[in-house]
Amino acid sequence: MKSGKKIAKERINILFREAEKIFNENPALSKRYVFIARKIAMKSNIKLSSEQKRKVCKKCRAFLFPGKNCIVRTNSKTKSVEYLCKDCGNKNRYGYSKEKSSLRRRSLKE
Ligand SMILES: [Zn+2]
Repeated sequence: MKSGKKIAKERINILFREAEKIFNENPALSKRYVFIARKIAMKSNIKLSSEQKRKVCKKCRAFLFPGKNCIVRTNSKTKSVEYLCKDCGNKNRYGYSKEKSSLRRRSLKE
């Protein structure tokens, strides 16, 4: 069971890496890769790292590539980082703090 999770995690890491690599050529394919990565995560009952979560638009599930289809802005008022998805216009907001519970609370609200 433990090793299965490890393999799943590795596959997810690879998929995210490939999504980043292929993005310039084929953004649709990178979206597909992160879709598969999320499916693996769900199936294996593992969580994506916060870094990986930030790379996926919460609304349209597109792979977010800062400077390409995504604008990253920091908001000092709300102490958060905003990832504006150019594909659907959704603002994905994440707190500065790496504390996981606050991230979860935030995503539940939306
Ligand atoms: Zn989006």
